[in-house]
Order: sequence, then structure tokens, then C-alpha cells
Amino acid sequence: MIAENLKSVRQRIERACKRAAIPPQDAKIVCVTKGRPADEIIEAIEAGVGIIGENRVQEAALKYKAIGNKTEWHLVGHLQTNKAKDAVRIFSLIHSVDSLRLAEEIDRQAGKIGKVQDILVQVNVSGEKSKFGMAPDQVPAFLNGSALYRNIRIKGLMTIAPEVDDPEKARPYFRRLRKLRDEINSLQLLSMGMSNDFEVAVEEGSNMVRIGRAIFEDV
Ligand SMILES: *Cc1c(COP(=O)(O)O)cnc(C)c1O
Repeated sequence: MIAENLKSVRQRIERACKRAAIPPQDAKIVCVTKGRPADEIIEAIEAGVGIIGENRVQEAALKYKAIGNKTEWHLVGHLQTNKAKDAVRIFSLIHSVDSLRLAEEIDRQAGKIGKVQDILVQVNVSGEKSKFGMAPDQVPAFLNGSALYRNIRIKGLMTIAPEVDDPEKARPYFRRLRKLRDEINSLQLLSMGMSNDFEVAVEEGSNMVRIGRAIFEDV
């Protein structure tokens, strides 16, 4: 089932790319595996998934131990500063950096192991209280403030759209993040789109979709 689901997700991404006139290889899939056992993750890797996304550092650490670095590991969930030390050892990309304090701690911990840690800035485009992420208008100050940190590299922006019944309703949030990214010359990655709304996200320029249920479940 995992291989078939993955194939279907890929086809849906390809069609969305075609509609938006984007080269399909530009849209990467992060396979989100929170709560899934190692054998399902291995099945996904064997089906061709190249990036695994986890929500929690502790859960990821156990799986990383079991599976190792035959895949890339990304942190897509919220990161507490006291977990930054473990996070820099596991993840090639941290999608959820939402404060200077956290960026500073990631920089410090990455420096200790001689790593330059790639990160994304999580932006709360919808302004929902329940969501992590900085407001769009805080992003320029964050970029200025973090320019001194030598052991992080800011690669792009990430957002989680509101849960809506119709994915079309998520489109304005994706468009807003795309616009923000386009205003900042140095940023390339746009991590947006989940099982419910990834096609709309790709049409709006997402080049990194984070997909769990559409790969592992019959949805
Ligand atoms: C769980 C999760 C996803 C994947 O969600 P699905 O609906 O299972 O595709 C993507 N991003 C984040 C931050 C998540 O927590």
C-alpha cells in the first residue's frame, strides 16, 4: 500500500506542477512518520522516499538509531531549546525555527560539533493562536538578527495552513508565504502542503511538501 500511495502522491504532484508550469523534480516529498513504527518507515524508504520527517526529537532519535542515515531526516515539529543539542546530531534540515533564541541555541550546538545546520523559518501566516511560528512581519528582523550566526544556514520558509474543509481555502496562506519568500532574495525553499492540501501548495510554488497520511493510510 505504501508504494502505491507514494506513486499516486507523486502523480498528483506532477499534475499540479504541470498546471503551474513548474518542473516536477523541483517539488520534494518529506515523508512524515510521526507515530509510525520503524518497519513502515523502512518500507517507505524502500519504495523510494528519500526524506523522513519527524515531529519530536526523542521519537526521531530512537528511529534514527534503528534506521540510520540511509535516508535524510528532517524535523518538522516544534523544537524546544533544550532539545537543540540532539536535533543538530540527527537532522539535515530543521523546518520549525521560530525565534532568535532558538536559532542562537541551534547555532551554538551545531558549532560544538563543527556543523553548519540548515534551517527553515516557521511562519504563522494565518495568525491562529494554536500554531507555532513567527508573524510574517517579524521575518526580516529575524533574518537580520541571525546574520551573525555562523553555524546555521537559513534555506527558506515553512508554514502550516489552517485545517479547512476545502483545500482551495488554504491557497491564500500559501500564496502569502510564497510572496514573502520571493521578497527575500537569499531564500529558496518553501516547505508547505500536507496530505489535505499539497496540490494547492505546489500550484502556489511549494518545493517541499510534508506528507504523512496520504502515504501511510487509505485517504
Ligand atoms: C503531521 C504533520 C505533517 C503531515 O500531515 P499529514 O496530514 O499526515 O500529511 C506535516 N507537517 C507537520 C508539521 C506535521 O506535524
